[in-house]
Amino acid sequence: MRRPANSHIIIFIVSVSLLVSGQCDVSRKLLVFLIDGFRYDYIHDLQNLPGFKEIVDNGVKVDYMTPDFPSLSFPNYYSLMTGRHCEVHQMTGNYMWDKDSMKEFLIGENPDSRLPMWWDGSEPLWVTMQKLGKKVHMYYWPGCEVEILGVLPTFCEEYVYNPSIRNLTDAFEDALNVLKGGKADMAAVYYENIDVEGHHYGPGSAVVQRAVRSLDVAFQTLNQRIKEKGMQDELNVIMFSDHGMTDINWMKKVIELELYINMSHIIKMMDRGPVVSLWPKSARFEEIYRTLQVVDNMKVYKTNEIPERYHYKRGKFVSPLTLVADPGWFITESKAKLPYWQNSTGEQGWQHGWHGYDNEYLDMRGFFLAQGPDFKEDFRAGPIRSVDVYNVMCKVLGIQPLPNNGSWSRVEFMLTGSAARAAPTLLCSSVLVFLVLLLSA
Ligand SMILES: [Zn+2]
Repeated sequence: MRRPANSHIIIFIVSVSLLVSGQCDVSRKLLVFLIDGFRYDYIHDLQNLPGFKEIVDNGVKVDYMTPDFPSLSFPNYYSLMTGRHCEVHQMTGNYMWDKDSMKEFLIGENPDSRLPMWWDGSEPLWVTMQKLGKKVHMYYWPGCEVEILGVLPTFCEEYVYNPSIRNLTDAFEDALNVLKGGKADMAAVYYENIDVEGHHYGPGSAVVQRAVRSLDVAFQTLNQRIKEKGMQDELNVIMFSDHGMTDINWMKKVIELELYINMSHIIKMMDRGPVVSLWPKSARFEEIYRTLQVVDNMKVYKTNEIPERYHYKRGKFVSPLTLVADPGWFITESKAKLPYWQNSTGEQGWQHGWHGYDNEYLDMRGFFLAQGPDFKEDFRAGPIRSVDVYNVMCKVLGIQPLPNNGSWSRVEFMLTGSAARAAPTLLCSSVLVFLVLLLSA
């Protein structure tokens, strides 16, 4: 039976309007920034930060973002990109040891850290996108050089230590070009300097404030370039950190393990600082556990005693004993093993800031900002958690998220017409079917 001609016209007009208005475009482009060690309160006073202020005025700012435990970089890079807790995605530390293969994962450059065993515990967003035929460009992002579940991103500018502000601006300029030119669906840029200065000088230092202002200048340029390229209505921008930073005092708040236990009874120790992993000789296990139980300013856990709320203990690289320092305290074998810093100009000193502590500790909180056509304007939101970010990114990219630990109810309200945008897949498929029928009639 033929449809009356005027119904064809109505369907045609509705279809074209929907397509032209972008209602059927469920996959807008996304630009992501991961700003290492940027504590939530670094942008509390926006008076001297016009770049950040413009983003906050145009978009969404959450009060803070609680990281996953441990509040360290690699665990949270992966929680952010998978939406899963550390014990699920298995990236449980910046330093990990697999006792079966005797291989080590070490933050920085270490060939064994590229082994699939550390990365294949979960599928990060960029791998899912590549598998769906979408294109992802990544800049200095730790891990973009690794073949994860057999997949690499379309483009990876490999991580280098402490990329410069120039590296950052070059990266987002290139990212805007490939996004605009249809060569990428998502671009992701990593920036480390805020974390580096926070470690060296402390989160409250003038050096960190200067570093934040430099970043702000870069984001002023970003805002300007997005407008010059006419991308405000087609590009979503999300920026977040992996964790915060707190002051440490090496003169007073150091726990030296060798004062309590014989370190030759330890087969393996991974990492120093807030969280330390120990593999004691089995004959000495109970003795070491009992001895460490009475050490002040830290806790020692057998694997099954680690608090459930850390979502950590089921990780396959978790050690038989895990030590967690109280905020501000630093665990090491001895003061002689404290990690001093030194930069390329020969400057060196104590470390004044650290992170990795209990993820509920105030200073460990990170930040989250978002702007673009899918985000509300000038919108203050309550706190979220790092595992929540994945669902937001999937939503604005029009991708079905994999099962994850994020809460949709904590993030849904920050999106414009989020319910309406859930429908387009069905609505637009119907519209396209009608169009095909109409044209073939
Ligand atoms: Zn750090």
